[in-house]
Amino acid sequence: MIEIQCSECKAFIARYTGSGKLGLLFIDTIIKPDSLADLNSLSKTELPLLVCQECGCELGKPTSNKEGRIAYKMIKGSFRKKGIIKAMTPSPHTSWR
Ligand SMILES: [Zn+2]
Repeated sequence: MIEIQCSECKAFIARYTGSGKLGLLFIDTIIKPDSLADLNSLSKTELPLLVCQECGCELGKPTSNKEGRIAYKMIKGSFRKKGIIKAMTPSPHTSWR
């Protein structure tokens, strides 16, 4: 699991499952926030620009791959990423939502 944050203001942008190769951020791999994960029902042309909610910095542009999966093409230098190591087993009392 990977988390990305704005490189300008360090605001949380998104958490997603992936390999860590971040050229493309596929919408269907986004776990949080819901406001981004919900975009998966949109088409490429309806997808808004990915901007930081805190400082308005532009982070990614809508695109899609050959199979039609929608994604954001991330702008180099606009974000930082960090891997999250899953150290704990999920508790039945914890909800991810
Ligand atoms: Zn920002």
